[in-house]
Amino acid sequence: MTPKDVVQTSAPYVGAAEKAAVARVLDSGYYGCGPEVATFEHELSYYLGKDTDVVCTASGTAALHLALTAIGVGHGDEVLAPSVTFVATFQAIAATGARPVACDVHEKNLLLDIEDARRRITQRTRAVIPVHYAGHSGDLDAIYDFARSNRLRVVEDAAHAFGSRNQGRMIGSFGDVVCFSFDPIKNITAGQGGAVVTRNPAVAHDVRLRRELGIERASTTRSDDIVVSRLGWRYAMSDLMAAIGRVQLGRFDSELKPLRQQNAAALGEKLRDLPDIGLPSLDAEDVPHIFPIRIANDRRDVVRKALRDAGFETKVHYPPNHLLPYFSDGAPRPVAERAFQELLTLPLHPGINDDQIAHMVSVIRASLSAPMSSMA
Ligand SMILES: *Cc1c(COP(=O)(O)O)cnc(C)c1O
Repeated sequence: MTPKDVVQTSAPYVGAAEKAAVARVLDSGYYGCGPEVATFEHELSYYLGKDTDVVCTASGTAALHLALTAIGVGHGDEVLAPSVTFVATFQAIAATGARPVACDVHEKNLLLDIEDARRRITQRTRAVIPVHYAGHSGDLDAIYDFARSNRLRVVEDAAHAFGSRNQGRMIGSFGDVVCFSFDPIKNITAGQGGAVVTRNPAVAHDVRLRRELGIERASTTRSDDIVVSRLGWRYAMSDLMAAIGRVQLGRFDSELKPLRQQNAAALGEKLRDLPDIGLPSLDAEDVPHIFPIRIANDRRDVVRKALRDAGFETKVHYPPNHLLPYFSDGAPRPVAERAFQELLTLPLHPGINDDQIAHMVSVIRASLSAPMSSMA
């Protein structure tokens, strides 16, 4: 089977309009962080909601690093995060010099377990990062209550959740600081990229300076003069990326979002009656980024092999971060570890069609109904 025939777990969904936008910026001769980025930021702010300040970055990881730095997280601090997340969350915390503290997750949705997090609070704990796994943000009010009562800042890792809502509120339109990713397979892409979204002007200002090496223009008359008064990085988005992102944002409500929602709903509908399968916690106001199911009774790897043989790529989101050597403290997080044995992410992106969904489900059904003994 050629790679082209394989149905990928995740894939970008771009076309002629994105190509034309990149060509337009290439022809302009300016590829830095300029007018396209500024326009993309305005369009994102308009989309996300009133009073949002959007600062686009080179990646979602850079957005998290900048956001944490802007709220004052640094050496000696600790930041709470669910162990079930992409390692980018943990690396971004570590990049500030702070220590990521892996928390266990809720059985039902694999989101941060607040009770577990509470037990891990110390004098050094400064912030908590809820991760909107698969696009679902769960009980965010409880996270904010928990943060308020423990004097913690909140940085939402909304890399999976662009366009999702929480009790009717757009993710990014409320809360403390919210980070998105526009990497190739996320709900919208800019080729690469990310954004920090906040309604806190001091945070936005700090992120804006630090994403461009901390450079402040000293004066408009002598533009060669610079002032640098804080640490910064080369973390800005380029106009080439923003051009792609602008087209994707324009297609989001009419195409990208409904296709993701429809495909996830179709998969859920067709798998619902299978007793060994646990469906992801997604509801109608979520825009699903991935479709991670759980398969009980040690059947996960059998299903995975059957899908691979039928041309469907699957993944496991995610190996718990507390099991990674760099972030391990040797202590168990039982819910995350059990989930890791059972999780299987099925292909889900706007390019999947109904035939592929039907085929995928029939392969899963067949592999689950085969007798155990024939599976060795
Ligand atoms: C993708 C992702 C990130 C990082 O985004 P990049 O743009 O790839 O740097 C962070 N957290 C989660 C949960 C992600 O899935």
